[in-house]
This record gives sequence, C-alpha cells and structure tokens, in this order.
Amino acid sequence: MMAQYLALREDAGDCLLFYRMGDFFELFFEDAKTAAAILDIALTTRGEHAGAPIPMCGVPVHAAEGYLARLIKAGCRVAIAEQTETPAEAKKRGGYKALVARDIVRFVTAGTLTEESLLEPRRANVLAATCEVRGAVGIAAVDISTGRMELEECAPANLPAALARIGASELVVPEGWELAPESAIARSAHEFSSEGGEARLKLVHGVATLDGFGTFTRPMLAAAGGLIAYLDHVGRGNLPLLLPPEARRGDAVLAMDEATRASLEILESSGGGRKGSLIDAIDRCVTGAGARQLADDLSAPLTDRLAIAERLEMVEWLHDDPLLREDLRTSLRALPDLGRALGRVVAGRGSPRDLGQLRDGLSGARSVGERLAGMDGLPVLLERLLPALGGHAALVDHFARALVESPPTERGQGGYIAASYDAALDELRVMSGNARRAIAALEAKYREETGVSALKIKHNNVLGYFVEVPQRHADRLLEADSGFSHRQTMAGAMRFNALALHEEAARITEAGAHALAAEESHFEALVGEAVAARRGIAATAAALARIDVAAGQAERAAEGGWTKPQVVDGLSLEIAGGRHPVVEDALARQGERFVANDCRLASHDRLWLIGGPNMGGKSTFLRQNALIVLLAQAGGFVPARSARIGMVDRLFSRVGASDNLARGRSTFMVEMVETAAILAQATPASFVILDEVGRGTSTYDGLALAWAVAEAVHETNRCRCLFATHYHELARLAETCEALSLHHVRAREWKGDLVLLHELAEGPADRSYGLAVARLAGVPPKVISRAKSVLEKLEKGRAETGGLAAGLGDLPLFAAAQVTREAECDTLREKLRDMDVDALAPRDALEILYDLKREA
Ligand code: ADP
Repeated sequence: MMAQYLALREDAGDCLLFYRMGDFFELFFEDAKTAAAILDIALTTRGEHAGAPIPMCGVPVHAAEGYLARLIKAGCRVAIAEQTETPAEAKKRGGYKALVARDIVRFVTAGTLTEESLLEPRRANVLAATCEVRGAVGIAAVDISTGRMELEECAPANLPAALARIGASELVVPEGWELAPESAIARSAHEFSSEGGEARLKLVHGVATLDGFGTFTRPMLAAAGGLIAYLDHVGRGNLPLLLPPEARRGDAVLAMDEATRASLEILESSGGGRKGSLIDAIDRCVTGAGARQLADDLSAPLTDRLAIAERLEMVEWLHDDPLLREDLRTSLRALPDLGRALGRVVAGRGSPRDLGQLRDGLSGARSVGERLAGMDGLPVLLERLLPALGGHAALVDHFARALVESPPTERGQGGYIAASYDAALDELRVMSGNARRAIAALEAKYREETGVSALKIKHNNVLGYFVEVPQRHADRLLEADSGFSHRQTMAGAMRFNALALHEEAARITEAGAHALAAEESHFEALVGEAVAARRGIAATAAALARIDVAAGQAERAAEGGWTKPQVVDGLSLEIAGGRHPVVEDALARQGERFVANDCRLASHDRLWLIGGPNMGGKSTFLRQNALIVLLAQAGGFVPARSARIGMVDRLFSRVGASDNLARGRSTFMVEMVETAAILAQATPASFVILDEVGRGTSTYDGLALAWAVAEAVHETNRCRCLFATHYHELARLAETCEALSLHHVRAREWKGDLVLLHELAEGPADRSYGLAVARLAGVPPKVISRAKSVLEKLEKGRAETGGLAAGLGDLPLFAAAQVTREAECDTLREKLRDMDVDALAPRDALEILYDLKREA
C-alpha cells in the first residue's frame, strides 16, 4: 500500500493527497500535519515508514465536501485519489490479498470548483492564466461554474490593474516569468503557446476558425492555451464547461487600478468582506447569477456610451413600472441557478437534481419571456435578450416527461426517472414492487407456519434477505424438515434462509439492478442533451442575470430616490445633491440624515481643493462622486438629484497613508508609488480623487509634495480632480492655477462645541478646528488646554516668520519650472544638431563631454 501511496503522492505534486480507504479519505505524512492543523482534527499515526511512525489523519467521505471547503479557503489544493475498482474486483484480479487499484480522479482547487456547497452563490469564481508574448500580456479568465470565458490583452504595466479587476481565485503563469504575481501557480512554459491555445479552443468548440467568436491576438491565445492545459490537468482530461471565448477590449472599460478599487471599497470593504462595500449597499438582485453579474458590472464599468445608454434605458423602464418589476422579481426569485447547474452537468459532476434545475430554470425563463414579449416600448437591450429566454421548448418538454418533480442529488438509489416515461422501466419497478409485496406475504405465511409471531424478514448488505427469530423460538426452524437453513447466530436471535425467500429476493435484486441501469442510461442521455444545448442554456442564464441586475438596480433606485444619470461626451461633471450610498445607509441605521452635496467640475474649473476640519465629510464627498461616476458608467441609477457626467476613461482614488501597512513597504512609500501612477497615467478625460495626499510624512515634506502634486495634476494631467487637504497653505495655489478653485466642508463652533455641518461651501477653510475635533473625540480637557497654549506659540511664530508657506509667493509655477528645463533641452539639442560627428576627433569629443558635464 505504501508503494501505491507514494506513487500517487508523487503524482499529486504540491497538492494535499486525499487517499480513499473505504469510507474515509486518509492523509499521511506532511499532508496529515497540514490538514489536521487547518481542520482542527486529530492527528494520529499508522504503521511505520523508514523506521518512524507515519502521521495520519482522515475525514469521512460523506462529510468530505465541508472539509474540502475549509482546506481550499485556507489556500490548499487537494488531489482526490479514489478507489477505481471494488474490493471484489481486486480479489478477482489479484487474489485474496490484492490491493484495490486507486488513481487520482480529480484535483480540487480554488479556481476549479463546481460544487454548490463549495461556491458562494453571489460571487463568481474565476480561474485566470496570464503570460507574455513579445512584450504584450495576454490574460484568459474563466468562471468554470458557468463556463464564461474572456480573453484580453494589455501592456505589461497594466497587468496588476487587469488582475485586480478580474479578481481570480487562482492564477496560472508560465514558469520563470518575471512579471508573475507571487501567489500564482507556475506551469511549464510550453503550455502557453498561441498555436496550442488556438488549436484547443477550436477543438473544444468544434469550429475550424475562431473568427465567429471575435478577434483574438497571440498573447490572448497563448494565455488560453495555458488555461486549458491547466484545466485538463486538474480535471484529469475531463474539461469543464467552456463557452466560446469573448475578447475583452481594455479600452472598453473604465480603467481602475488595484489601489483605486481597494479605496473605493467596490466589492469588499477595507476591513475585508462584503459588508460595508458598495455592492453590499446596492445589490437588490434576487438571484445569485444576478449578483455575480452586478459584481462584474461594477468591476468593469463601460466607456461605450451606447452600451451604457442601453442598460440605463432598461433600468428606467423597470423603475417606472413597479408592478412589472415586482412581477419579474418574484418569478426570478423562484428560479434555480441555471448557469451553475449547467456547469456541474457539463463537468460530469451533475446530479439528477441539476437536470431538474435545468428543466425548471429553462421553463421559468420561458414564462418570463412570454410575460415580456408583446409589451409596448420594450427597451432595446431587453428586446435583444428575449430570444434567449425561449427556445428550449423541446428540451424542457423532454426533461419534464423524463424526470420526477424534485429529483434527488444522489443517483445511486435511482428513483429520479418519472413513471410512464419508459415502459420497460415501469415494468421493472412493478416487478420489484411485486416481489416486495411477495416478501411481505411470505413473512405472514412463515409466521403462520412456524407459529412464531416475532418472526421477521430483514435485509442487510452482507446476507441480503433473511428470516430472523428470537433465540428462544429458534428450535422450530432448526428442525431438519422446517424448510429453513441456518445462516447466523446473534446475541438473542438467529437468522435463516428459505428457498422461497431466496427466489423473491433474487427477483427484487435483479429487477432493482435492471431498473437502476435503465435510469442510469436515461440519465446519460439527458446529460448528453443538456451538454449539446449548453451554449443556448448559458445564454438563457446570462439573459436572466441581466434582467435581474436591471430590476435590482431599479428597485434600489426606487428605494433611495435615485436618478438616471446622463453620460455625455465632454469633460464636465455635474452632480447635484449627490450622496454616498454606504455612508448614507450607515447613518440611516443610526437615525441620522445624510447631507447631500453638489459637485460641479468643468474644463475651466476642473480641480477642487477641499479643506475643512477632520471628520467634516471631505473623504465622503470625494468618494461619493467617484462612486456616482462608477455606478453611472456601469449602467445604473445614481444617488443624486441629477447627474450629468462627461465620460470618464480612468478613475483614480488615492488616500494619504495613515495606517494601512501594505505589503511591508513603508506607508509613505506606498502613497508615493500610487501617486506617481496617477501622474503618469491620468488623461484629461480621467477623474481623480486625492484624499490627504502627503499626510504620511513630515509637515514640510507633506506640504511640499501635496503642493507639487496638485500643480502637476492641474498643469500636466489636466484631469478632473477633487483634492482634499488640511494644508491651508495650498489655498495659495488658487492665485496661479486658473482652473483650480477652493472649497471647504462647513463647521461652526457653538457654545465652545464644534458642529460639523457636512455641507460643502465655496472658498477656503477659515481655520482648522483640530483642537475642537480632538475635544469631540474625547481627548482630556487638560491635554486640550495644553495644546491650545502650544498652538498659540506656534501661530505667533508663524505670524513673525511668514509661516510654513513663507517664500512660496515667488515659487515659479510647476509649468514655469518645466519651461526652464525645456529651454535647457533645446540648447542641448541645438548643439547636437550643429555637431558633425564624423569630423570630430576623439579628443574633441571628449572635450565636449567635459563641457556638458560642467554645465550640468
Ligand atoms: P473627513 O474626510 O473630512 O475627515 P469623513 O468624510 O471621513 O470626514 O466623514 C466623517 C464622518 O462624518 C462620516 O463617517 C459620516 O458619519 C459623517 N459624514 C460625512 N459626510 C456626511 C454627510 N454628507 N452627511 C452626513 N454625515 C456625513
């Protein structure tokens, strides 16, 4: 056994090996230690290997899914080694002591789950592969629980942002690739070939060319090759559901990098988890598939005006018709998760229940389609989805006839094929039913014949059917001519065989086995039918999800009095009465009201500098505007009285470092790296929010950096920007930057207390209220009064010396500094142009270099 185990262990690579032994999966050696620690189960030992006891732990097969889920969550991957023959078969093959053959039938990894119990219903589970071909990066991403596959290409610099958007639970990369993220799984580089990828995709989809699916570049195909090779590996040659790939164009979505996603808390709050995130505050979907689609929409808002308008039109239509909306939502709520049921069926892990879900989901979709068809003024998008809702009539009808109303999850016991679907099966069932009745009749007959009223006919897996009587009545059956033959003696009871019983039992077993086999073959046929229709079924699932998203958005909008945004060309951003959905919800729970605020950016007034006390509502204001842009471009209503948004190409959100000690780099370093990315990437069509940038360092450094960053954003990036800061000195930027204006969140001191109004007003903040905020926060009065006297001293000093920003008056503007530098470059360029390099003696060349060096 050890030899067999070790061979499988080798095969399992860096996965934990679940080794099937009867009713348990056993783990040995290091695997056992790892699993026991994660699962908190007993670690024991069994036998010896190389003179030392072998550590071991095990989990019962029937409860394995729960344990698997925990191991996967903890970041493990698991190889499942099953018995591939029965002990009886092994005996027949190799005699009494033969070892049952085992093989790894499957790898369970975070990105390749299909089990309902291991997946979160409202979250997509994505496996991605990425690699580089001649300087361009390809990414292939698939949710194998639904088969949706996307391919894209991006510049190496944009890889982190793309991966952040995709949010894969498992990532595969070629071995030795320097851009590979740390957590990625390295696979042999030759699996990532574009020819191989193309060939595999053609084979999977049975087409001679991929042109019908879209245009795919070499990096995309290479990534697809790596992805499919990995799926092949973990499924041991069994490929899961893969729908035709879609090419995702990088510029068709609103670009957001990882830091922006994190700081806007789109799918997860900063504390981790969905609670407190944007999606948590807006998700009103009634199906898991809808919630997954919504998450996808929010991760990748659009930049295509037409597509946004189409989504908005559908939301508006459902918003304006509450009755229809409620109707649709009621129908959708009752539907099973069609996409995931299909995923399991195609992966070869489907159950009769999954087939029943396909039937119910498809027939539900048809009713939804019928409800909508023929309605007046149908939105364009909905009109386009309608055909996908119907169109499975034959399959639904067939499944309805073939399956019982609620089929079981296990098919081992049969009983899922409906009566009168198959006459032969019906007959087998009658036969086994008759035999069962015959056995009941036999029991009565035997009781009468023997006079033992406690006589029973029982069944177990070892003996089959037998007669059992209490020990004290056994004598009569032991008589030679009784017709019973002794099988087994138990404590207090004896068990017997009888000829007639034996015959009936054989009939039951035979009819049962034939019935099971018949059901099994119907099952296979139904699975085949579903697999053949997989693309159409997936389209139905996608259409239902899209309707659910729109109805959910409409519902949310109706609840909160949200409005339909206008997404237009141009560089304005006009939001009247904007609110922050998450903060507003939190306040509402405490019975408090959210103060709505306006934001009005335009090319002549594109940078707002926002001051005011801490806790005054600056961050909230910044984020609510970014979120409104995001929601609008995702095609949903927004929490505002009105919103007119000039399409944003990239969205950036940065928060000055405080306590988010990320990735071991100093927080200030992180802050600067992230800020540098904005300065490098923001275009005039971008929208940037900067919250207290420069906070993470000393006052002078911080002010200087904030100053320079604000200037650069204003002069060079020329994007729309909201910049929150507590440095009063920055107000002086308004003197030189013509498209920058000053704003502040209002506060008032009333009877010595600070009142935060959370209301935005024009003009610079008059003072900082830092001490008042400290008092509000419960800093002891003694400390406050001490701080007051220190402050007085500091302010006196400031008045005398001109303060922190003394001398900034004559600082040439960022642009001016740049002009000087450009002038220098021009002189250098001129010198080079006038130089005749061919005629230059080596000595002269050296001389020129010395000159240049001196000037520099
Ligand atoms: P700042 O960035 O100025 O320090 P925040 O934006 O973090 O302030 O806001 C602090 C708190 O004030 C929030 O947690 C919220 O409770 C409250 N708040 C912020 N904006 C508003 C608003 N517009 N209306 C009502 N309360 C608000």
